[in-house]
Amino acid sequence: MIIALSGGVGGAKLALGLSRIMPPENLLVVVNTGDDFEHLGLSISPDIDTVAYTLAGLANRELGWGRHDETWSFMETMEALGGETWFRLGDRDLALHVERTRRLKNGESLSQVTHDLCRRMGVGPRVIPMTDDPVRTRLLTDRGWLDFQDYFVRLKCEPVVSEVRFQGAGAAKPHPDFMAALADPALEAVVICPSNPFISVEPILAIPGVRQALTGCAAPIIGVSPIIAGKAVKGPTAKMMQELGMHPSAGTVAKRYAELLDGYVIDHRDMSQVVSIDAKVLLAQTLMTTMEDREALAKIVLQAADVLKRRKVNTRLRHRTAGDGA
Ligand code: GDP
Repeated sequence: MIIALSGGVGGAKLALGLSRIMPPENLLVVVNTGDDFEHLGLSISPDIDTVAYTLAGLANRELGWGRHDETWSFMETMEALGGETWFRLGDRDLALHVERTRRLKNGESLSQVTHDLCRRMGVGPRVIPMTDDPVRTRLLTDRGWLDFQDYFVRLKCEPVVSEVRFQGAGAAKPHPDFMAALADPALEAVVICPSNPFISVEPILAIPGVRQALTGCAAPIIGVSPIIAGKAVKGPTAKMMQELGMHPSAGTVAKRYAELLDGYVIDHRDMSQVVSIDAKVLLAQTLMTTMEDREALAKIVLQAADVLKRRKVNTRLRHRTAGDGA
């Protein structure tokens, strides 16, 4: 079994690669819900939807969000009526939000709804929200505190970020299946996907108990850098790093995850970063343009997992034996 920690686009690409080179039912994708919000009376979970659409082969590759084969009658009509149109919802996509909202209102949990909708869309791997409790990412910017989607979509990531908070995280419980998988001896690896560390992965790590469970996990933890040659492939990762006083690089991301990482995959172009990284570093082509790229990177991650698992088990045995002798 493999656990993948994921945000939206970058995480979903690697999760798709993994799902194609291993039995998909052995992949558990734990998804950030800090981006979730309520809009036009609907409960929207952007990262869960990106992961689900991607794994189901329904994602809109041109837009980078939403569904392919989309129509826009709802948005056009909203515009004509003077309604809110800054967050674009395609007609097919809309159906998902309407159905999720209905079920949540009827008392189903986000994981129950996600599980069923993923099954109906033909998603092979198990996709779970990091928690069923509400967590909302908020950003302190030069325009004050902003809700995540206000910053990300309405203001197009233009505001300068000085602090990120995960409202509700302190009281949230991690998804029980995530915790159970981390303690399962059959777990082969935890993959920290190439997602934005500040707004996609750290919300997951902010839930009480998650960091401890990861540190205590017998399986290796392998990260993949979302930064290639100092730049994000997409989105505000590098810009945020600069604004938060960090040098945008693959090494800086590794430092954010420091004590968690057993292995870290960076791009060939970032070879100079190797010395600054305190984990076993693997060089690869980490830009996933084609399906072959996704599968090739996933293979490298799983090969690394295999080697690092044996190493981690041996180290633990040595420590235990040394402890017994003391
Ligand atoms: P979001 O929630 O949709 O912003 O998605 P993520 O946080 O999962 O993804 C954004 C991050 O993915 C950015 O930092 C990108 O640089 C990274 N990313 C996107 N595509 C790729 C890729 O092909 N390779 C790598 N290494 N990173 C990628």
